[in-house]
Amino acid sequence: MPASDLTVFRLGKPVSNAWLVMDAGEGPVLVDAGFWALWPAMLARLQRRSLRPRDLRAVILTHRHCDHAANAARFWSEGVPVYAHRLDAECLTGLRPPPPLPAEASATGAMCWVENHFPARVGCVRPLEDGDLVAGLRVHWIPGHTAGSVFLHHEPSATLFSGDALLNALPPFTLVTRLCLPSCDFSDDYDRALASLERFAAKRLEVRTVYCGHGPVWRGELGPALAQLLAGARASPRPPTPARPRSPRA
Ligand SMILES: [Zn+2]
Repeated sequence: MPASDLTVFRLGKPVSNAWLVMDAGEGPVLVDAGFWALWPAMLARLQRRSLRPRDLRAVILTHRHCDHAANAARFWSEGVPVYAHRLDAECLTGLRPPPPLPAEASATGAMCWVENHFPARVGCVRPLEDGDLVAGLRVHWIPGHTAGSVFLHHEPSATLFSGDALLNALPPFTLVTRLCLPSCDFSDDYDRALASLERFAAKRLEVRTVYCGHGPVWRGELGPALAQLLAGARASPRPPTPARPRSPRA
């Protein structure tokens, strides 16, 4: 059994999740910062807990996509340090252009168009590497959905923050909730994302609670559930890789 439970509040929904973690380490931290439109609701939910944006000790991004990172700049401008894996940090700070998402004519095209034309930007991002410990959360590099996607694992409570590398809602909408693999359309490299999940599963870490990038909290034994998902993916043909447009920033 986990030694302790984390106190976690869901600040951003229903588009995407931002999780307020009260007691993982040195004080309240935010895992992901939500889409722009979520900002008023996030502020109100912080206020309800007598918190201002500047009271957070850190914003830790699971990946760079704008439905998770758009509001990071607002926290950064209030003096809150923003963390992301080095490879996504390079895109967030404008050092490197992100690879474009698939053709905008697909069913998920509108969301891809927004990401391709309005990527999240932050003035300064503290880079994370695989194995780092930030605010009590262990970084596990899970490249594939984006090059710098990470899981954040709180070992004492067997809790995982998974971003979009593992979801609890069928993409692209969140009407159907169940544990599922990342979206092919929204991923830089779907095969790499699956390989990363295989590698994580092989670590056999204890995980009983998962806070995903989309969908409600998931509770259960992650090991067997993830093994079943991966076995299903191995047994079924890969979805065709959608065409990628030229980068609008090229
Ligand atoms: Zn997302």
